[in-house]
Amino acid sequence: MVFAGLSERLQETFRKLRGKGRLTEADVNEALREVRMALLEADVNFKVVKDFIARIKEKAVGQELIESLNPAQHVVKVVHGELVALMGGSNSKINMAPKPPTVIMMVGLNGAGKTTTSAKLANYLRKQGRRPLLVAADVYRPAAVKQLQVLGEQLGIPVFADGTGKEPVSIGLAAAESAVTGGRDVVIIDTAGRQEVNEELMAELEAMKEAIRPHEVLLVVDAMTGQAAVGVAETFNSRLGLDGVILTKLDGDTRGGAALSVRAVTGKPIKFAGLGEKLDALEPFHPDRMAERILGMGDVLTLIEKAQENFNAEQMARMQKKIRSMEFTLEDFLEQLTQVKKLGPLEQILSMIPGLGGIKKLKDIQVDEKELVYVEAIIRSMTPEERRDPERVLNGSRKRRIAKGSGTSVQEVNRLLKQFEQTKKMMKQFVDMEKALKKSGKMP
Ligand code: GDP
Repeated sequence: MVFAGLSERLQETFRKLRGKGRLTEADVNEALREVRMALLEADVNFKVVKDFIARIKEKAVGQELIESLNPAQHVVKVVHGELVALMGGSNSKINMAPKPPTVIMMVGLNGAGKTTTSAKLANYLRKQGRRPLLVAADVYRPAAVKQLQVLGEQLGIPVFADGTGKEPVSIGLAAAESAVTGGRDVVIIDTAGRQEVNEELMAELEAMKEAIRPHEVLLVVDAMTGQAAVGVAETFNSRLGLDGVILTKLDGDTRGGAALSVRAVTGKPIKFAGLGEKLDALEPFHPDRMAERILGMGDVLTLIEKAQENFNAEQMARMQKKIRSMEFTLEDFLEQLTQVKKLGPLEQILSMIPGLGGIKKLKDIQVDEKELVYVEAIIRSMTPEERRDPERVLNGSRKRRIAKGSGTSVQEVNRLLKQFEQTKKMMKQFVDMEKALKKSGKMP
C-alpha cells in the first residue's frame, strides 16, 4: 500500500513522543526532525517539506503545547491538520455543468493511465446516476482507440470514436453534439498523450481546450513516477489551467510523496485516486481520510462507503444482526468472504481498519484470495451443526474427516477456524465503530 513506509515512520515517532508524558521543546524538535526525514524519504518535494515543518513548528511548540493535557496528542493533531491541508483540505468533486452535457477533458502523458482512468471515471459517474459518453480522441494511437472501445464494451458505456483520421478537436465537437442527441449528460474525452511533455502536445491540448471549452480539465498522473510527477503537473497546469488531478497507481509500492507534493506545488486538488487495474478501482480522494490512514487512524468512512456500494442493504442488515447476536456461523463467514472480495484486495481493506493499519500486523490475518476455494471446500464438508458451532462440536476425528472431504489438511482446517474467530472479532469491532459513528452524527 502506498504511504506504508511513511506511515510506519510517523507512527514510530509519535509512539516515542507518547512515551514521554511531558514534552520539552527539544523533544518536539527531535520529533519534527524525524517527521522531516520521513517525508523526504517518502519522496515529498523538499520545498514542500520545509514549509510543512515550519508551519507545524509554529503550531506545535509554545504555550499551547505546554498547557495541553496530552502534549503528544497535541503534536499528532497538528501534524494531522497540516497533512490534510497539504493534500488539499476537503474533498473536491467534479464540477458539473449547469446545463448538460458536462465535458471533461482527460490529459496526461502516455502510460499514466489516462485511458483506463477515463473508463473508470465513466463507471464511477454512472454509479452516481449519470449517463456518460466516452470519447476516443487519441488519434495517433489506433491501439488507444481500440483500448477505450474494449473498456467501454466491458462496462456497457458508449464510446464515441471516429476512425476517419479527423483532428482531435473536430472529434471532440462531434462527440459533444452526439451526447446531446443521445441524451448523455457527461462527456469524457480521452486525449492523446506523448512520452514526455513537449511543445507539440501542449499546443494541441491548448487548441482543444479553446475550441471545446470543457468544464473540467483533469490531469492523470502516475504516482509511481515520484518527483517527475510534480514537474509534469506544474507544466500542464501552467499551460492548460487544470481543474484537478487524478493520481493513478496508488496501490503500488510507491513511496507516495508525489501525492503529497502535487497539490502543494500546483494548488490544484487531487480529485480521485486510482488503486488498481480493475475498472472499479477509482476512489474520490479525501485528504482527511488519507491523512488518517497515514497516521494509522484507519479509514472507516471509506470502508463503510465501499461496503454500502457493494452489499445490498438487506444482506448487510441480516449479517449485522447475526454478528451482534453472535449467531455468525461459518456459512455466513463463507458468504461474507465472497462479498468482501468484491471490495478489493483484502490487504487494502484491512489497512483501512484503525489499529490494523501497521502492515506488519496484517500478515497473520491475511487471506490469500486463491485460498477462498479451499475455504469453501472445507466449509462445504462440514455438517450444518459443525458450521453453526465449530468450537463446541469439532474434535480431532471430525477435523480429519473434514480435511479428507475437502482435499485439505487438518492444519488448514485449524487455520480456517482461527481466521473465522479473528474475523468475528474484527466484525464486532466494525459494528461497534459504526454504532459510535452513528452516535457521533458522522454517519446517517
Ligand atoms: P495511458 O497511456 O495514459 O492511456 O495509460 P493506460 O490507461 O493504457 O494505462 C497504462 C497501464 O497502467 C495499464 O496497464 C493500466 O492497467 C495501468 N493502470 C492504470 N491505472 C492504474 C492504477 O490505478 N493502478 C494500477 N496498478 N495500474 C494502473
